[in-house]
Amino acid sequence: MKNPIDKQLKARGDLLKQFGAGYGFRRESAEPEEKERDPAETLEKLRKRIGNCKRCELCETRKNIVFGVGDPGARILFVGEGPGEEEDNQGEPFVGRAGQLLTKIITGGMGLRREDVYIANIVKCRPPENRNPKPAEAIECLPFLKAQIAAVNPEVIICLGKIAVLYLLQRAEPIGQLRGRWTSYNDIPVMPTFHPSYLLRNPAAKAEVWEDIQEVLKKLGIPIPSKK
Ligand code: SF4
Repeated sequence: MKNPIDKQLKARGDLLKQFGAGYGFRRESAEPEEKERDPAETLEKLRKRIGNCKRCELCETRKNIVFGVGDPGARILFVGEGPGEEEDNQGEPFVGRAGQLLTKIITGGMGLRREDVYIANIVKCRPPENRNPKPAEAIECLPFLKAQIAAVNPEVIICLGKIAVLYLLQRAEPIGQLRGRWTSYNDIPVMPTFHPSYLLRNPAAKAEVWEDIQEVLKKLGIPIPSKK
């Protein structure tokens, strides 16, 4: 086991196994009944399993658990950091200002509908004052995201920002160095890029996100929409 985060996640592999999504799960190596499993049903069971989760201290201040949203069979899965105030109020990821920008990226930049992709976060409950999730919180919550990824089994994951990259990929380099370069998670290609909230503060970085998105579209054989 390479590092402490990996060790702790391994110890929580029981949860993933319950959803046919064991640590290191890959669809191509799954038994026939796993291949036939309905991702929507798997996600629904996972949501029930999370219940009124109190596994970390974020449960004390959240209003809603923000599970994830989108097509259970999506080709593209976005991973963000955690819910903000609006997301906490509505129980849906990426619905605040940054979320509206993400929706623009999906519709304008990718030519898709928001409901064509799947969107989830590293932590499912809002960190107070929008602080970064603490390592203990992220590690406690990460098996849920891993189970979601295993259920959806997307063709590409887009990691939004440094926190998503840190906990999903266990890469601590600055996002500015990692963005635009393909990496992988359990054999699924991953494209790291900037978080939409960073783009709100630094609009010039939209050009780089546009480049990263084009790489994703090329990989999936999706026509690149012309810039308006
Ligand atoms: S952040 Fe995740 S682990 Fe923590 S209470 Fe919420 S759902 Fe549970």
